[in-house]
Amino acid sequence: MEKGKCPICHQDNHCAMVAGKDPLSCWCMTRKIPEGLADMVPEAQRNQSCICEACVIKYNLEHPNQKEDS
Ligand SMILES: [Zn+2]
Repeated sequence: MEKGKCPICHQDNHCAMVAGKDPLSCWCMTRKIPEGLADMVPEAQRNQSCICEACVIKYNLEHPNQKEDS
């Protein structure tokens, strides 16, 4: 399992933590991961590898009616 890869699309997730940078500087701190998208991550990979920003954007496009805050 590669922590630097998105568990959904297997592309680089550009996670700041994996790159050894301040986790607070990671893009995921400013963008909310939709709950439905997090559910698509295999159990074993939850809290192991980050979902990438592209998947979050894609999910939001496919589910435009889902509210960001619930
Ligand atoms: Zn992805």
